[in-house]
Amino acid sequence: MEPRAYVLTVANQKGGVGKTTTAISVAAALAEDGFRVLLVDLDPQSNATSGVGLSARRPTPTVYDVLLGAVPAADAVLATSVPGLDVLPSTIDLAGAEIELVSVFSREQRLAKALEPLRERYDLVIVDCPPSLGLLTVNALTAADGVLVPIQCEYYALEGLGALGRNVDLIRDSLNPRLVITGFVLTMLDGRTRLSQQVVDDVRAHFGERVFTTRIPRTVRLAEAPGFGQPITVFDPSSRGALAYRRLAAELVGRLGLPARAAGQGVTA
Ligand code: ADP
Ligand code: MG
Repeated sequence: MEPRAYVLTVANQKGGVGKTTTAISVAAALAEDGFRVLLVDLDPQSNATSGVGLSARRPTPTVYDVLLGAVPAADAVLATSVPGLDVLPSTIDLAGAEIELVSVFSREQRLAKALEPLRERYDLVIVDCPPSLGLLTVNALTAADGVLVPIQCEYYALEGLGALGRNVDLIRDSLNPRLVITGFVLTMLDGRTRLSQQVVDDVRAHFGERVFTTRIPRTVRLAEAPGFGQPITVFDPSSRGALAYRRLAAELVGRLGLPARAAGQGVTA
C-alpha cells in the first residue's frame, strides 16, 4: 500500500503569531528536501495563498467549494513555483463557510473527508488555520494527525494555549482519536531581549520536550517575503529565516519518523 500523507495542522487562535509564515516556510523547506507537500489554506484572509504567489490568479475553485462539497479537492489544487509544493487555495469567500457549514451534514469532518483521496499523493499535508477556534479550525483539527503550535515570543505568549489544548482534547475524544500535539515552535525570537529569553524559559517549563529545539528568529526578510509571493527558502535561501525553517523542517521529519526523501540530501533530525 502507498504510504499516506501525514496531515499537520498549524494552529493557534491568536493572530499574528507566525502560523502562516511557519506553514509556508516549513512546507517549502520540506518540498526542497524532496517531499511531496500540499499546503491547505484554511484562512479566509488567504495569506498562505498569496504567500506562495497564487492570489493574483484569483483561484477558482477553492477550498471553500471543496468544503461545501461542490468539487473534489483534487480539482482545486494548484501547483506553485516550488517543485513538489502544491496549494489548496482560499479566497475571502471562505469567510462564509464558517456560517454556511453550520447546517450541513458532518460539518466538522468536511476537510478530513475531502483530503482523504489526496493522502496517497503527498508525504505531508500542512493546513494553515485562521486565528480562531471556530468551525474551520475544528475541521483542520479533525483532519489532522498532529498539530504544530507556533508561539510568538511576547509577554502573553502562553495566554490562550489552555483553550487550544482543551479543544485538541475534545476533538481527540469525539471526532479524531489519532490527534496529537506534534510540537510547539517559538517564533519571532529576538535573542537580544530579556523578555524573549524569559518567554523561551516559560514555554520550556510548561511544555518541556514538546517544544522544538529550533527557534525562529525575528527577521526583516521573513516579513518581506510574503510581499513577493515567495517562501523564504526561495526569496532569500541563505537568510537566517530560511536556515531556521529548514532546521525546523528537519526536526519535524525526525520527530515524525518520516523517511528522508531527497536524493543525495540527507535529512537530519
Ligand atoms: P499568523 O498567520 O499567525 O497570523 P503570520 O505568519 O501571518 O501570523 O505573521 C504575522 C506577521 O508577522 C506577518 O506580517 C509576517 O510576515 C510577520 N512575521 C512572521 N514571522 C516573522 C519573523 N520570524 N520575523 C519577522 N516577521 C515575521
Ligand atoms: Mg495566518
